[in-house]
Amino acid sequence: MSPDPFPRAEVRIDLDLIRHNLALLAGRAAASGAATMAVVKADAYGHGAVPVARAALEAGATWLGACSLAEALTLREAGIQAPMLAWLDTADTDYTPAIAAGVDLGLSNAGELERAASAARRAGGRARVHLKIDTGLSRNGCPPHAWPALVKSAAADSAVEVVGIWSHLACADEPGHPSIDAQASRFQQAYDVALEAGLHPMRHLANSAATLTRPDLHFDLVRVGIAMYGLNPVPQPEDLRPAMTFRSSVVSTKRVDAGESVSYGHTWTAEAATTLALVPAGYADGVPRTLSGRLDVWLDGRRRPVVGRVCMDQIVVDCGDHEPAPGTEVVLFGSGEGGAPTATEWADKIGTIDYEIVTGMCRPRVARSYTGQR
Ligand SMILES: *Cc1c(COP(=O)(O)O)cnc(C)c1O
Repeated sequence: MSPDPFPRAEVRIDLDLIRHNLALLAGRAAASGAATMAVVKADAYGHGAVPVARAALEAGATWLGACSLAEALTLREAGIQAPMLAWLDTADTDYTPAIAAGVDLGLSNAGELERAASAARRAGGRARVHLKIDTGLSRNGCPPHAWPALVKSAAADSAVEVVGIWSHLACADEPGHPSIDAQASRFQQAYDVALEAGLHPMRHLANSAATLTRPDLHFDLVRVGIAMYGLNPVPQPEDLRPAMTFRSSVVSTKRVDAGESVSYGHTWTAEAATTLALVPAGYADGVPRTLSGRLDVWLDGRRRPVVGRVCMDQIVVDCGDHEPAPGTEVVLFGSGEGGAPTATEWADKIGTIDYEIVTGMCRPRVARSYTGQR
């Protein structure tokens, strides 16, 4: 796939960096005897599920995690055979395709268990399920009071194979937060109940943050998302490299006099004569309008400020006395190398998390291309 000529706005995904990040995480997991699940939900956090899944499996992941069954089936349709878990669908999702495709189901209650079991009976197979205990996040997951009954009915149903028990942490990105140990202790109690019911399921609890900071919580499998994409969820530095670069290019430049203002509302006025570069990426392409007045881009080897409001289709960069050639690459965020902007910087500025920034780049106007070995 040739990267040139430039689309208006593009995310470029470096699969070698995905491999680098995954190998680092899988190495930590392996050191405590755990396998690694690469979480590729939401089109791999905007990076593209199929190429990322393949890269992650090459680099040491042995499981894939999806949110919906449909996401998992997309991976199967692409020929990916690895063990796969899907954990959140709707109240009426038909689980039948999961049985034929060999997709494991994350289940939280008796209704879901019954739907999985009846799908398995219809399909003439067994449903592979991972029962989820709610240890304190209070989203899905079975509450502790209902857990013994859920475990018992799963153990008694020959249409169901309980492969795992699992849970999800609320505050793993704040190492030392007391909820982490509290959740771990409830998880242990839930495991004891499963053992008493005669089950010997695998266990998984850790997300990226716990994979990096809590080796004692790796159990049999860790589920890594954000860190595989090179964004660090914990305060300590880690050798993670952002795999997504969001870039556009200069369309044209113009010289303006001191006193000329830029973009809607005239929120910025040139103090001296300067050269403005027009870049065809705006809020329809994922540049948050709330970054107006506090956004820099990387252009010809340095940071330059975007001036005036972010528009739907375009932004204007103040280049001073520099005159970039039309077609010059403009990096909006990327690896951060040399001091270039990152998705994390955007997130910090607008009061969100980098997860939302990269996942939000999955949009029809933004092209996606890949570098690194495919
Ligand atoms: C998204 C998700 C993960 C991955 O979380 P990160 O913080 O991105 O590592 C793990 N487990 C579950 C259940 C998830 O929904």
